[in-house]
Amino acid sequence: MENKIEHAKRLIEEAIKNYPRVGVACSFGKDSIVTVHLAREVDPNIEVFSIMTQYKPKETFEYLRLMNKKMNLRITVYMVADSVPEALKDGSLKVRLLPTDEFHQRTSEIKTQTGKKIYEINPDECCRLLKVEPAKVAVSNLDAWICGLRNTEGRIRENYQEVENKGGLIKINPILTFTEAEIWRYIATRGIEPHTWYRKGYRSLGCAPCSRAGGELERDGRWKDTSKCGGECGIHTQILK
Ligand code: SF4
Repeated sequence: MENKIEHAKRLIEEAIKNYPRVGVACSFGKDSIVTVHLAREVDPNIEVFSIMTQYKPKETFEYLRLMNKKMNLRITVYMVADSVPEALKDGSLKVRLLPTDEFHQRTSEIKTQTGKKIYEINPDECCRLLKVEPAKVAVSNLDAWICGLRNTEGRIRENYQEVENKGGLIKINPILTFTEAEIWRYIATRGIEPHTWYRKGYRSLGCAPCSRAGGELERDGRWKDTSKCGGECGIHTQILK
């Protein structure tokens, strides 16, 4: 595992050396927090950003605030919302609220037509509006971004590469070969406090309505019982620039 850690840090170092504007994405799951921890060991001032949605559990907002303080992340949060959720309110936190017009329009159309929530009827559209579009804003001023993707998380991530070029935006995946057990070992040995939902048996954390505990593969609990089960929100599969 020490070799993997050194390799991950080398990838981050090279990214910082090769690209003037680099940021680390953090969803505040176990893999993200390890990636941020590694990146900040390389450069304590590296930019950290997060895409949050109004459907994230309040425990994620609380954990974000806690870790932002504990690790002095100076994080910027991007979020499609009319106001900052109560659990995310913290004078020292930079939250960039993004326009909600299209989201309100789509949710109200779906409600009128079906009586249901957008994530029940069209999770891809919900993810596009709440995650992919804000991610485009977050990376718009970056040359490269560093993410916590891992090959063994689920079937779609098996073939991801450590360095990807998508439409000119470079993505670095420094912990790609870490196993789930290695992530937990890193967290334990560095004394990092994990998100509380892991104690409830969750293996991968997303928005509350679309995440379930358990699963054979880590991402099996994501969008469970839908055609999107174990899939992706689109941030890592679509062109962001
Ligand atoms: S994970 Fe679910 S609630 Fe969150 S943006 Fe995607 S569909 Fe919407």
